[in-house]
Amino acid sequence: MDKTSAHSAPRLHLRIRPTAEWKLRSGHPWLYSESILEQNREGELGELAVIYDRFNNFLAIGLFDPDSPLRVRVLLVGKAQTLDQAWWRARRDAAISRREGWFDTRTTGYRLINGESDGWPGLVLDRYDSTLVLKLYTAAWLPRVAEISDLFQTYAFRGVRPSPGAAMLEEPLVTESSTALDNAELAVAEDGHTPPTRSSHPMGAENPARLILRLSRNTQSLARRQFDLSDGQILRGPTLDGPETFLETGLRFEADVVRGQKTGFFLDQRENRRLVESLARGREVLNAFSFSGGFSLYAARGGAVAVTDLDISAHALESARRNWALNLDNPAVAACRHETIQADAFEWLKKHAQPEFDLVILDPPSLARREMERNGAIQAYGQLASQAIGCLRPGGILAAASCSAHVSAAEFFETVRQAAQESGRRFEEIQTTGHAPDHPATFPEAHYLKCIYLRF
Ligand code: SAH
Repeated sequence: MDKTSAHSAPRLHLRIRPTAEWKLRSGHPWLYSESILEQNREGELGELAVIYDRFNNFLAIGLFDPDSPLRVRVLLVGKAQTLDQAWWRARRDAAISRREGWFDTRTTGYRLINGESDGWPGLVLDRYDSTLVLKLYTAAWLPRVAEISDLFQTYAFRGVRPSPGAAMLEEPLVTESSTALDNAELAVAEDGHTPPTRSSHPMGAENPARLILRLSRNTQSLARRQFDLSDGQILRGPTLDGPETFLETGLRFEADVVRGQKTGFFLDQRENRRLVESLARGREVLNAFSFSGGFSLYAARGGAVAVTDLDISAHALESARRNWALNLDNPAVAACRHETIQADAFEWLKKHAQPEFDLVILDPPSLARREMERNGAIQAYGQLASQAIGCLRPGGILAAASCSAHVSAAEFFETVRQAAQESGRRFEEIQTTGHAPDHPATFPEAHYLKCIYLRF
């Protein structure tokens, strides 16, 4: 069922400015409204727009959003292709197979699709054990939620990775008359693909697949009004009482997949947590902006003697205590002291600048949500780093992270290094890190996460 009028109306065609053309060609996935020179008609939310270059040659296809300054999110550039069922399946499978071999059975929470960088602009798909969480950051996907639910539901949870052939249940993405995902009339030729009949789900009833919809704030009211969709809605599978539990490198965590931040857990920090684990032996650790204590459990498993979680949110700290309890069968966790402090970390660090810790983790929320907040954010990162350094004993380690896309890695690292220099203490740089492999970043705006490790 096509929710756009693309079938009765001529296909939406756009001609764009040469500078935008160059950007798209070089792989940037966003087209802003001011870059559009000509449009053959008004476009509808979520329909496929075909972009031509100044010589009238095909350039790209993307998802159109008439109400966003980010008017088109590009799906493909270069050569025209038919966006039929097989195309969408192949795109799904490409993202999933990119992660093949990366996780073993001790990790059942990770990102399967990371938006633009996986060819799915504005769409994230995370796995938490037997729950998939689909998060939409653009309203342009809203008319297609039923179709993408079908598509992702057929991804089988086989513990580690889909085994070729068996993992994907080949079932029709859309029914014959239903072509919302299949409406690119650039058909070079139909591929004649006939989906085989549905086979039984590989995991059967023991591990029912659940699909939950999460919506970014900017899409929620339209979703409710026009599409009867709401944030946290279960699209497929059984209801969920409480959080979902999953494994990350053998540690147990809960994720509030229905209401929690992002999709319920900060999966993007897994590789930094592993690094913290390798640095934690014998140390007293402060995990500032701890959320549900992800870094803390890794530090404990790595042999930390004590861990303090510091967060402003009581809810986050309750989750941190539950996560700790979930791992008490691990002797290193059982042997580690655990404390939680509910406070504003900026204030708390200001008052506690005594050298009481051997490892301080700083992972604040994004401090620059807009470009104009960039300078303030850099200043705040510097202050936080100075205060954290003040809490470190000789030999202590600072692990400072930033998730502000508007602050570049180079700017952030320089800010933290400068704070270290201003402390007057001798220090060495251990490492800097960026994105985890299941969170690929293929264009500048997608690079948000960076972390630097310094030893004093
Ligand atoms: N390090 C975490 C993720 C941190 S997210 C992990 O690995 O999972 C940022 C956290 O900062 C959130 O839990 C939020 O509640 C907390 N926070 C936001 N502002 C804060 C403040 N002023 N003081 C302390 N915590 C704050």
